[in-house]
Amino acid sequence: MTSKVCPICSGAGRPLLSLPRQPIYQHPVAPDVSVPGPHSVDLAWVACSDCFHAWQPDFDPEVLAQIYRSFYYTPAPDGIAVQFREEFLAAMDKFGLAGPRRVLLEVGASGGDVIAELKVRTGATRAYVFEPNTENAVLAQARTELNVIEDFFTSKTAVAANLEQVDFIYARHVIEHIFEFDDFFAGVNAVTGPGADLVLETPSLDFHASEGSLAPFHVEHIHVFALRSLARLAARHGWGLTHSEVTGPGNLIACFKKGAPVKEVAAPALDLLQRKVAEQRERLISTLAGRKLVFWGAGSAGVGLVSLIGREPDLWTDGNPNKVGKHFVGLAREIVSPDSAFREVAARAYSNPMLVIASSFVDEILPRVRSLGWTGEVCDCAGRLL
Ligand SMILES: [Zn+2]
Repeated sequence: MTSKVCPICSGAGRPLLSLPRQPIYQHPVAPDVSVPGPHSVDLAWVACSDCFHAWQPDFDPEVLAQIYRSFYYTPAPDGIAVQFREEFLAAMDKFGLAGPRRVLLEVGASGGDVIAELKVRTGATRAYVFEPNTENAVLAQARTELNVIEDFFTSKTAVAANLEQVDFIYARHVIEHIFEFDDFFAGVNAVTGPGADLVLETPSLDFHASEGSLAPFHVEHIHVFALRSLARLAARHGWGLTHSEVTGPGNLIACFKKGAPVKEVAAPALDLLQRKVAEQRERLISTLAGRKLVFWGAGSAGVGLVSLIGREPDLWTDGNPNKVGKHFVGLAREIVSPDSAFREVAARAYSNPMLVIASSFVDEILPRVRSLGWTGEVCDCAGRLL
């Protein structure tokens, strides 16, 4: 698919960012899994001159559908990678959206921990989940208080599920993966009643462009939303923006009400992104040059970092024990537990190793790094010392 016409407002797309040789598979796989090549792809995003939406004009829907079914992220046990979840729940409280509800629906619910919590907080009698990934759907189904539909959310599957009318629908880190917005919103509109609330959480283009951060720019993100473009999209389908905020790690949480008046949102500054990315790459390469590297974070940030600096870490760990023993498609290094990574560093007597927190969950990971006795330098994905 190739389109330089904005999928939100039909405005003209201008070049925003090009990233050569990016990894296709963002999540580690079991040792016995081998995936035929190619394993990398040149990526590019354009941005709309009117609503400032960013999107990939060339993407392969077949490859992405296969990733979502079979190579999606490894579910984490309770207590790991919970920062985004806590920030989302806090925003719901702050915006008054977690009050009494009847019927909830989450699109792309992973293991269902957030909606299970919201069902308790809101007193809802019904909580529906659409989750296409097999491994995650099994976890959600184990929560008997949820009604799980193991499928993508589309107008067809939404109607076929024959749901009770929904008064609160939300999707966290889903909308940036969607191929067909009209179909997605047709599904949203089919299952919700008048005055329903819709919340979309997605990486903020405004934030990441101003930081020169590559976090949202990977193969799975066909779209990167500005608040302006997200509000335009929702407005086109009958939803008015009511609240929004950007969290510390750069996630936009935007809340809409069905039938509420439409608000225009100011345009973000995108001009410096490509140059800031190049500067950051140079800084990282010089910070890490010639040093033994330990990566903490076996997800899209870690595999993206490998591609950016052109080398794998000497040791690769992650706080999610379900990732231990796995490896990335096309890469050699096996993910080990933090304990064994740190034991290895001691045993090999590296002279000046650098631990890179290759994750958005820096606030959660850094205390663990320290408590496990790491005394060397630590930096984040941008090469900033922590
Ligand atoms: Zn546009």
